[in-house]
Amino acid sequence: MSTNEFIDLRSDTVTRPSTAMRDAARDAGVGDDVYRDDPTVNELERRAAEAVGMEAALYLPSGTMANQIAIHVHTDPGEELLLERESHIYRWELAGASKLSGVQTRAIDASERCVPTTEAVERELVTEDLHRPGTGLLSLENTHNYRGGIAVPTAHVDAAADAAHDAGVPAHLDGARLFNAAVALGVDASEIVEHVDSVTFCLSKGLGAPVGSILAGDETFIEAARRVRKLFGGGMRQAGMIAAPGLLALEGVDRLSEDHDNAARLADGLDALPGVNVPEPDTNIIVADTEAAGITAAEFVKACSDVDVGGGEFDTHTTRFTTHRDVDAADVDAAIERIANVVEEHAA
Ligand SMILES: *Cc1c(COP(=O)(O)O)cnc(C)c1O
Repeated sequence: MSTNEFIDLRSDTVTRPSTAMRDAARDAGVGDDVYRDDPTVNELERRAAEAVGMEAALYLPSGTMANQIAIHVHTDPGEELLLERESHIYRWELAGASKLSGVQTRAIDASERCVPTTEAVERELVTEDLHRPGTGLLSLENTHNYRGGIAVPTAHVDAAADAAHDAGVPAHLDGARLFNAAVALGVDASEIVEHVDSVTFCLSKGLGAPVGSILAGDETFIEAARRVRKLFGGGMRQAGMIAAPGLLALEGVDRLSEDHDNAARLADGLDALPGVNVPEPDTNIIVADTEAAGITAAEFVKACSDVDVGGGEFDTHTTRFTTHRDVDAADVDAAIERIANVVEEHAA
């Protein structure tokens, strides 16, 4: 047992609301949002749509709900949803697409590219006939979480979305960490989503808000999404209380570069440890491979937790660490030192 302060690198969802966010929540103008009477939610939705250059936006309790609503609106039951093999929707959303929307998923392995090529999309799209369902939606992800927070170049997103459109199929982007991608690529978020029909992004991750995600698209799409939000039980009342910190979160986009710098620092430090391999990160997620050190991810996560560093098991030998607003460079250095001891003790 140690008496260190816990350095929580499990996820960027662990950020606590700032004092300004708590003040904003207390002072927020509110109303019944199902009646569209909440001025703070209305303002957040307006500003969120603007931030991604889309017509309209909807405030939702979570990113998962945003993705699932997008799938529900874009598809009909019995159609196929085309997505990437390691995408969040495919891996971590409890088969929601099949349970909530009755669609069959078809997964493409896009490897480190994260987004399928034009050729892959064209090959995997299915046209409805006597034996086959049609493809109802293509879903993409940027940054790509499971592949290590990779910021996918805009041209790759555009190409995949265009290939879907050429077949009359809409494209959705799971941009839970869209602004991390924008900051890493040095482009405006609106450029990344220019060719897709809808986008999800989280206010509750690196942007630091306590609750909520955004789904954006054109006005017709968002009107339909509003009905599905009610259907899925996500209609909220005086939600201005939680939307007000979201407005501040939207203003904090540039700060994400600090998380990226800290992730690079962490990756450098851990990669220098014997038997630990860490690719240079694009954004705030690093994936440490401990196979050469003979440490499984389960053992590694447990040992890190014993020295008060939080990480997340990803695969047999890979562990994810995520930087965020509540850890600074000094925390990162302390984490590296503690993890170095873990690796050293394991070798001994
Ligand atoms: C976190 C995440 C989500 C889901 O967001 P929640 O708010 O946790 O439901 C969706 N997609 C990706 C890529 C994510 O990282």
